[in-house]
Amino acid sequence: MSDIAPHGLHHVTAIASDPQRNVDFYTEVLGLRLVKQTVNFDAPDTYHLYYGDAEGRPSTLLTFFPWRGVPAGRPGPGTVTATAFSVPPDSLGWWQRRLAEMGVPTGRPVDRSDEEVLALRDPDGLLIELVASPGDTRSGWDGAAHVPAEHAVRGLHAVTIAADDLEPTQRMLAELLNMRVDAEEDGRTRFVMGGGEGAAVDVAATNGRPGLVAGGTVHHVALRAPDGETQMRWRRQLVEAGVHVTEVLDRKYFTSIYFREPGGALLEIATDRPGFTVDEPLLELGRSLKLPPWLEPDREQIAASLPPLRVPEVVEEAAGRGG
Ligand code: ZN
Repeated sequence: MSDIAPHGLHHVTAIASDPQRNVDFYTEVLGLRLVKQTVNFDAPDTYHLYYGDAEGRPSTLLTFFPWRGVPAGRPGPGTVTATAFSVPPDSLGWWQRRLAEMGVPTGRPVDRSDEEVLALRDPDGLLIELVASPGDTRSGWDGAAHVPAEHAVRGLHAVTIAADDLEPTQRMLAELLNMRVDAEEDGRTRFVMGGGEGAAVDVAATNGRPGLVAGGTVHHVALRAPDGETQMRWRRQLVEAGVHVTEVLDRKYFTSIYFREPGGALLEIATDRPGFTVDEPLLELGRSLKLPPWLEPDREQIAASLPPLRVPEVVEEAAGRGG
């Protein structure tokens, strides 16, 4: 087996109901940049919306399938129950006040395994955590209205996988994905990949009914492969270990393979390249509907099946700042 771990979290994909409400929350409240408006390649009559930093770099991305009328899901074993973002160490108080002013309830920040965590829910009930993270050098997106650059969300920090039987899930992360245990406390084990930011997976002991993936829950978590060659190597290793893995799929902005961890949560390994500027310039990211070449012939029909979206105005200067 290769002893290289994925380079960190690439993106988290979750399920929402109303796309406009989703855009408004993640751009105007959390201050992320809408970096791509496209469709679910496997169900092109629904949007796939990507949010991230200025350029939509891997490790900063949260994406959504908005399915209008989708029933609410249920967190529980076999699902990803929390998505944590990193914010600067002194920013939690600012975020708590801002969220309260915007009518988003939060508790107080709580201490958990040496970290300070502010929990909130998005309009569909998805659990988001803001974690005070000293030393995160990522810049986040500084073009959002009303979010000063010094408080901007920096990118993904960690995800939590709930499991009723910890051992098989932990074994896959450690032995097949080469993650290492960083901390263990109160039924929660933190695995880390590489040495970078946005590279933690927590496995939390959870009893009760299995989770249900639907509205307001995470659909899957993607891990970073530096290139297609490494992705193929990991694919071979997973297959040899008896894991059912998809073929490599062309997602336009990266290529992907998918498989499930033993508890049932869906994982993906996605490449860092080519990224979101492959089909529109940095200044224009997210402003109009982009389709992969194989769906382009059906653009008229696809566009007609999607509700119109009002996307936020961004400051030109910030929109062009990807470095
Ligand atoms: Zn994905």
